[in-house]
Amino acid sequence: MTPRTLKAVNDQIQAEFQSAYIYLSMSARFEDMKMSGAANWMRIQWQEETAHAMKLFDHLIRRGQTPVLQALDAPAVSFDSAIDAFEQVLKHERHVTRLIHGLYEVAVEEKDYALQTLLHWFIDEQVEEEENAEAIIDSLRLAGASGQGLFLVDRELGLRAPEAEGEA
Ligand code: MG
Repeated sequence: MTPRTLKAVNDQIQAEFQSAYIYLSMSARFEDMKMSGAANWMRIQWQEETAHAMKLFDHLIRRGQTPVLQALDAPAVSFDSAIDAFEQVLKHERHVTRLIHGLYEVAVEEKDYALQTLLHWFIDEQVEEEENAEAIIDSLRLAGASGQGLFLVDRELGLRAPEAEGEA
């Protein structure tokens, strides 16, 4: 693995842990708002992002490299409504998609075929991440300002369970 590729993967590990940190902070905020379903959804999202970081971490280990963990920023999470929160999620995931695509470009330029294969999974995963956030935003729009609608969406978000090993 070239030094440029190694640095790019280490940067993505940082970005995935940073995502996890943001979602955990959003989970805490939803607990404050008494939306326990959305808090659950965010807590599972935190687990998933941690799993993404670990996929890259383990890839480096398997390639005989040493992952170097970087500092995380304190999450600057602020929202007063669920729709505002999930719009932030969508914006953040679009940002992560750009990062994954940038990493893939490095893997292509550096002719790192093993990393390219691993990143196909991440590229697919980002399509799913954006799709999920968009679907939740749609549900929240339908619910509008209705307390009952919001209650039902929150209940549905509460049903999200951790994905099985390998799917996260
Ligand atoms: Mg991720």
